[in-house]
Amino acid sequence: MRSWNLKSAIVFPHLGLLLNQWCTSSRFGLPKSSCPFCHLRCHDTIDHLVTCTVFTNLFCSITRIHATPDFGNIAFFINLPEALVQDDALVIFVYVYSVYQCFNSCRNGHALSRRLIVHHLKLAALHCPTAGACIRRLMRHPNSFCMLPPSLCNA
Ligand SMILES: [Zn+2]
Repeated sequence: MRSWNLKSAIVFPHLGLLLNQWCTSSRFGLPKSSCPFCHLRCHDTIDHLVTCTVFTNLFCSITRIHATPDFGNIAFFINLPEALVQDDALVIFVYVYSVYQCFNSCRNGHALSRRLIVHHLKLAALHCPTAGACIRRLMRHPNSFCMLPPSLCNA
């Protein structure tokens, strides 16, 4: 895997996703809570959070990408076109970082909004030049990235 000079703060949420380390209710042995994004009962689970359509729709409207995130794709980078896999993986790191930061903000009383996602994208860009470059490319060329199975990318 190519070195991207990604800051650990951008990569950590993805590692936490793989290691089940996000602070969901069930992580602490409590009954599942509602999703803080769509408020669906018993859905504060990692696999739901990273594929929650309410979050995804907001994220996609901000970045103008078309995506229907697939958990396997997000977690394990499967089904990504080989030629695009590195840039797509960068997008996935930025996406998961955004979900994770918004999840924690919502757990602390914020409501999910475009402004909240943009706020975290700006923080990511300020903190990590590689993530910043990825976000700028994403905004300028939204159709060159995908985080969904290739068959859906060209839809
Ligand atoms: Zn949800």
